[in-house]
Amino acid sequence: MNSHEGLDCASAMARLWDYLDGELTPEKVAAVREHLAECADCLPHARFAERFLGELGRCKECQPPMPGTLRDKVMSTLRSEGLMS
Ligand SMILES: [Zn+2]
Repeated sequence: MNSHEGLDCASAMARLWDYLDGELTPEKVAAVREHLAECADCLPHARFAERFLGELGRCKECQPPMPGTLRDKVMSTLRSEGLMS
């Protein structure tokens, strides 16, 4: 699943957060989106991360922001959910 000219799974996951944050160039966004469309392994990760960030986004106004720790928090949650080794 990761042998075509696009991203492999590791690269796609490494870019996932920037992808969801909208911090990638249009070319890289397209590459990640393309990978997710074709990869049954990465798509659940992306869906989960998207939902998780959505939840956090909803709470931005009701709690102090936690820059820097946000990614760690997401990563540890992903691990506890068994979505990341
Ligand atoms: Zn993948």
